[in-house]
Amino acid sequence: MRSPTTPHPTPELPPELVLAIDVGGTDMKSALADPSGALLGVRRTATPARTAVAGESIVQRSAELLAEYRAAWPDHSIGAIGLIAPGLVDEVTGVGIYSANLGWRDFPFAERLQQATGLPVTYGHDVGAAGDAEMRFGAARGLDDVVVMIIGTGIAGAVFAGGERVRASGYAGELGHALVPGGLDCSCGLHGCLETVGSAGAIACRYSGLSGLTVSGARGVFAAAANGDTIARRVIDDAVAALAFSVAQLVAILGTEAVVIGGGLAQAGEALFGPLRQQVEKNLSFHRRPVLLSAQMGQDAGLIGAALRARSLLDTP
Ligand SMILES: [Zn+2]
Repeated sequence: MRSPTTPHPTPELPPELVLAIDVGGTDMKSALADPSGALLGVRRTATPARTAVAGESIVQRSAELLAEYRAAWPDHSIGAIGLIAPGLVDEVTGVGIYSANLGWRDFPFAERLQQATGLPVTYGHDVGAAGDAEMRFGAARGLDDVVVMIIGTGIAGAVFAGGERVRASGYAGELGHALVPGGLDCSCGLHGCLETVGSAGAIACRYSGLSGLTVSGARGVFAAAANGDTIARRVIDDAVAALAFSVAQLVAILGTEAVVIGGGLAQAGEALFGPLRQQVEKNLSFHRRPVLLSAQMGQDAGLIGAALRARSLLDTP
């Protein structure tokens, strides 16, 4: 029987946090995230050297990071972990299918990190997570049919149809390795991949090769083009043509309403977006006209997406 007295006021509990970890080729970025998605204590630490079983060192380091965050935030509880990485990722099973840079094949990240920490774990794709963050909080907020393209050294994408990210067991979103007219030999073994002409890395590399001049990345090539350098202009035109081809393909196949561009190349601003918009228009007729948007979530987009995934483990009974 209930006592008629007023109940004891429950002490104010600090909000439950989740740990987000973004594994890269050289660094692991990590942070805690509160229920609003705000990141706390963002850190960058070296990615550990590979152990005999590639992937195991990442699990050990992630468990250490958890302990370090617990020690630094003793008044908070950490309820779940969202781990993200590049390569082919099966987000449903939590398995790292393949990473060329980091060396694993079919490594069960979610299962191993769960065993090591006792917490629920999600394992996801880094660019997919960045795309999730743009959809929830960023440039693509409120939209359903969206492609998020991260254009840096290479090109990776997150494809959303009807508001859902297309996963295809980890094989969707490889925009950088879709063939385009004018594409060149690719490190993946194909000839003609988009990222061999359309990436920031390719723009800098092709310009140096054709002009014999060293340049400070794609940014330097855009600056040269603005000063009338015809080689720089041609390299950028080639990149724009290749990107516009891929964007028009996506629009025709998926009815994409917005293309969100992030990564280093997006910093070119209108020098990229203006010509790209014009070229995409030329490649379309009756099709939907996609808006081209600059990504808004910045360098920590992946961490924010990883935190969203981890949070979903707490919110699902
Ligand atoms: Zn390729």
